[in-house]
Amino acid sequence: MNRHDQAGSSQPTSAQHSDAKIKEVPIAHTLTLQAIRPVTHDTQELTFERPDGFEFRPGQATDFALDKDEWRDEKRPFTMASLPDADKLQFVIKSYPDHDGVTEQIGQMQPGAKVIIEEPWGAIEDRGPGTILAAGAGITPFIAILRARLADKGTLDGYRLIFSNSCEKDIILRDELTAMDGLETRFVLSDEEVEGLHHGKINGDLLDQLGIDAESTFYLCGPPEFEDDVASALKERGVDEDNIVREED
Ligand SMILES: Cc1cc2nc3c(=O)[nH]c(=O)nc-3n(C[C@H](O)[C@H](O)[C@H](O)COP(=O)(O)OP(=O)(O)OC[C@H]3O[C@@H](n4cnc5c(N)ncnc54)[C@H](O)[C@@H]3O)c2cc1C
Repeated sequence: MNRHDQAGSSQPTSAQHSDAKIKEVPIAHTLTLQAIRPVTHDTQELTFERPDGFEFRPGQATDFALDKDEWRDEKRPFTMASLPDADKLQFVIKSYPDHDGVTEQIGQMQPGAKVIIEEPWGAIEDRGPGTILAAGAGITPFIAILRARLADKGTLDGYRLIFSNSCEKDIILRDELTAMDGLETRFVLSDEEVEGLHHGKINGDLLDQLGIDAESTFYLCGPPEFEDDVASALKERGVDEDNIVREED
């Protein structure tokens, strides 16, 4: 399912009602930043009021733009990190200053700044216990999924998270993830050796070392090359494509 199939239940504006091409007009919400706090050296948690009518499922993303001149057309996808029924809408966003793009601007935002978001979309959803394979900011869909599941069931028994980053300081929300009841966590560092954490990449060797149940569900999110490599390693180990949950192109 792609972003255009999954409009939220937000109400269109009166201007949109009068537009004969209503279905082509994305429903937009303007949000005011209430709080911003660092969760790692380069990643911020942003908190907004949840707009009326903005409904989403854990794991879904939205197209997000800064509501300021020169930036309104620069939409980037970010995933809602808060629970769907919470009063606040939160995002966890990693900044890449060397891109000179939207995330560099987001890293410098101050409360009171405005952003524009559109309908939620995305194919990553909770299908029940399984193995989550995430790299860097690819953890974000699983923040909401794991929080929601934990709130609902009281435990994450049967869920395993294998989370890859360059260095220990890059691990987003490590304390929260480690403390989640029932969740098995494995941290993998590609550029640093730290006692108790895995060194290297998430690849076939690591999957063999950890052991996988090829009949179970695997959730994948990270840079395209990461996802393709890990999906190939899973398939080589007998995992059916239908049991791999990832964002569609
Ligand atoms: C469905 C989905 C959900 C997502 N959710 C989240 C989330 O919740 N949190 C989060 O942090 N991220 C998330 N991401 C990733 C996020 O969308 C990107 O990090 C973001 O779009 C980057 O925007 P940017 O404008 O800073 O840089 P970009 O748009 O990536 O780049 C701007 C320009 O920088 C240049 N550039 C690109 N790559 C490099 C590079 N490696 N080195 C130097 N220059 C470069 C290019 O010229 C490019 O045009 C998500 C992605 C998807 C697909």
